Amino acid sequence: MAVFETEALVLRTYNLAEADKIVVCLSRSAGLIRGVAKGCRKLKNRFGASLEPFTLINLTYYEKENQELVSFRQTEILRSRFNLSGNASILTGFSYMGDLLIDFSPPHQANDNLYRMALACFEAVSENPEDLDSVLRYFEVWLLKLEGFMPDLRTCANCHEAFNGEAAVYLGTDLSLRCVRCTSGKGGAVSKKLHAQLRTTEKLSPAKFAEEAREVPKRTKQEMAELTFQLIGRVLERMPRVRPAR
Ligand SMILES: [Zn+2]
Repeated sequence: MAVFETEALVLRTYNLAEADKIVVCLSRSAGLIRGVAKGCRKLKNRFGASLEPFTLINLTYYEKENQELVSFRQTEILRSRFNLSGNASILTGFSYMGDLLIDFSPPHQANDNLYRMALACFEAVSENPEDLDSVLRYFEVWLLKLEGFMPDLRTCANCHEAFNGEAAVYLGTDLSLRCVRCTSGKGGAVSKKLHAQLRTTEKLSPAKFAEEAREVPKRTKQEMAELTFQLIGRVLERMPRVRPAR
């Protein structure tokens, strides 16, 4: 039996037996892990409080060979989201991000970029709850990108010429982006403004992106929401379980 310690973000929990829970979290050093937390549902239990969804914890766990579920032994709260627990739209947004992380992350594979990006998005929403929608768009784009599903935003997939930002680009059925010459303007158009907005995610933190997005026209935001929703739906081959209002 091996003992591990890692920082982790609690994503989802299920009740098990009378006093236990199964906890799914995204950890910094082991990626997505599922574990049993014994006794965590007993009254006034600090262990239980630390395992509320979206809490950031320091986690010590045991792993037995050939067992998918690890054993959660000890936790310490680094950041609780207790102050947001009464805000239904924030909780829906958090659940949506949590579900996508579970859907997109292979178990037990650390991905530091994904972990840091996810954490920064949860933090940005905690700091400025009114920026939820823009942070969700940023999260979707980066999740797709880090898992290899985001089309190249810089060059045409067909002729490899750099997009110059002057014309709309087109999304093919294979999820690649092509220039107007290669498509003769056929396919789903991605407007200049949306293309620029997508490129902005590459340069900024989620908090900064959301701050700048306050000035972006509503129509462009809707267009971005439709595009990311379409891309995620195609990758998952179904719609996400939780879908925040758009
Ligand atoms: Zn082209």
